[in-house]
Amino acid sequence: DSVFKNVDSAPPIQVFQLTKLFTDSTDPKKVNLGVGAYRTEEGKPWVLPVVHTAELQMANDLTLNHEYLPVAGLPDFRIAATQLLLGSNHTVIAENKVESFQALGGTGALRLGAAFLKNVMNFNVVYVSDPTWENHKGVFQAAGFSDVRLYRYWDSESRGLNFRGMCEDLSNAPENAVIILHGVAHNPTGIDPTKEQWEAIANICKEKKLFVFLDCAYQGFASGNLDEDGWASRYFADQDLDLFVAQSFSKNFGLYNERTGNLVVISRDPKKLTEVRSQMEIQIRIMWSNPPNHGARIVTTVLKNSAYFEEWKGQILIMADRIKKMRQELLDNLKKLGTPGNWDHITKQIGMFSYTGLTEKQVEYLKSKSIYLLSSGRISMCGLTSKNVEYVAKTIDEAIR
Ligand code: PMP
Repeated sequence: DSVFKNVDSAPPIQVFQLTKLFTDSTDPKKVNLGVGAYRTEEGKPWVLPVVHTAELQMANDLTLNHEYLPVAGLPDFRIAATQLLLGSNHTVIAENKVESFQALGGTGALRLGAAFLKNVMNFNVVYVSDPTWENHKGVFQAAGFSDVRLYRYWDSESRGLNFRGMCEDLSNAPENAVIILHGVAHNPTGIDPTKEQWEAIANICKEKKLFVFLDCAYQGFASGNLDEDGWASRYFADQDLDLFVAQSFSKNFGLYNERTGNLVVISRDPKKLTEVRSQMEIQIRIMWSNPPNHGARIVTTVLKNSAYFEEWKGQILIMADRIKKMRQELLDNLKKLGTPGNWDHITKQIGMFSYTGLTEKQVEYLKSKSIYLLSSGRISMCGLTSKNVEYVAKTIDEAIR
């Protein structure tokens, strides 16, 4: 008898289960629209050429070693990453109101922020959008937040933002509730607030003394422009608020498995950052002790070299443009088929995903035809190519009729 005899299976992690179904399928027409990872027009993962260049340079640099990084991470990385997020001339940087902490991807940045907010601040209530990235709730619960609440976000009627509902729910949140906001390219809906709506949201958070925690996992992926996609983060940083931003380089650098992220902390009082930093380092120490080097070193090498930086921007644009092109091709194909309903949301939504509005039953039909997507109807646009988009549209059409 094993001590594990009473251990039951946990439910599968849907997105990775889809990848397995896709990989195991022998159907030549199979399509993976599940995982949020970039694919080329050939349906292949893409190592950004500038990343490859940086890796070669690093491999040849005999001054580098595998010593532990500082607990808070590679200093140059933290600075360069924060400047990328906020713009290097942002007032909070000039006024020394920012600290940052290298973390294990965007997930690690969220988990670290949550640990600090629970263990140091004693916060216990967190609000996430309905719907949200499926891991937000678990990450905050794991950090000890026992009260995870939803604010309204998606309006299935208009297939857009339920702005009134969102504002109402935030207005009713208790003081010091942590509000997770997607900084750009909302996952899964692909719908972001307008600039005017962001301003109203910031006002509510300020008035009601809510703690804003922005999750910025897709800078560059929405518009193709880093500054434009950093707008909401920069705007919130301008508002004289205490603020966390979880930053991820998984998508915009294609560094998914290198776990490269950054937790940006903005304090209205710059003097308090010393204490915050010391507490944050304890939280890091007990979770992962020191962060990994490779991804952070790649990002730093690129961000600090103006030629590489320009090259990277071009490669982000290639990714963002291909996604936009796929949105258009999917919409065109559905229109050509006369698929019932209005599908304009496919090109209105931004970022990596489209929230199609397909029901669970329709999703099951697609899966039976070897097209794999989340049961929520979210599709990763990156899984589409000019070669498979017609098949996907035709199968959606069949599922709808
Ligand atoms: N937040 C959101 C909204 C995401 O979509 C993702 C990635 N799917 C993450 C955070 C985490 O990204 P990472 O892989 O860098 O942990």
